[in-house]
Amino acid sequence: MGKRHEAESSGAGGDLLVHVYRSDSADPAEFRVPRISPMMVLDVLLAIQRMHDPAIGFRFSCRVGMCGTCTVRVDGRSVLACQTEIDDSTERIRIDPIAGLPVVRDLVVNTEPFWQEWRSITPYLVPDPNDEVGMDAEPAQIRPDSEERTEIDPSLDCIGCAACFSSCGIASARRDFIGPAAMNRAMVLIADSRDTAGAERLDVVGGESGVDRCHYIYGCSVACPKGLDPARSIRRLRKRRLK
Ligand code: SF4
Repeated sequence: MGKRHEAESSGAGGDLLVHVYRSDSADPAEFRVPRISPMMVLDVLLAIQRMHDPAIGFRFSCRVGMCGTCTVRVDGRSVLACQTEIDDSTERIRIDPIAGLPVVRDLVVNTEPFWQEWRSITPYLVPDPNDEVGMDAEPAQIRPDSEERTEIDPSLDCIGCAACFSSCGIASARRDFIGPAAMNRAMVLIADSRDTAGAERLDVVGGESGVDRCHYIYGCSVACPKGLDPARSIRRLRKRRLK
């Protein structure tokens, strides 16, 4: 990443024009911000907050694509604000809250419906109750070179950002669908030989709100900022259910 610098804030091409969704239509929605290079969407929001409107609502925390809190839609695409660079040739952008979740204020959404679906698949490992526990117990492991590991690893790094949920026409329209992130997590756990709740999870993902509601448009996989492929996980779940 190159050295950051404040660009000329006046003159041709010096500013970026930004339209931001405001939940109160009386609040300003058009802003001009001076360019820096490179410039992330989060830089734009922080510049608006600093220069124009300290009350503008948006969420962020880690700034390194790990916490999953800064997801917004930029010109319709769901992205992490901290990881999305604005091209030097772009003159204007539009920033909206992610789709399918109730807006709390401006770009801040209530993520509870997303987590509700996540909870429905029991999103944590359920170990065998007969496993030995305690400081001296040998923890169960999956070998790094095993087939099991090969199946799990590509789906593992979900940060719960909801970009996939927002980009899925079924989940974001809240048409009774568990959604891609929860399905992806279910696949990870079902493939894990240390887990004992696979049958219950397969019942949930095989139910009315599960895999059969996916239309395989692949919007989730295109949107995922961590390079995961939730649509592939859904296909795998469907296969496992048929088995
Ligand atoms: Fe975000 Fe990808 Fe996880 Fe969906 S699967 S919540 S897009 S990290």
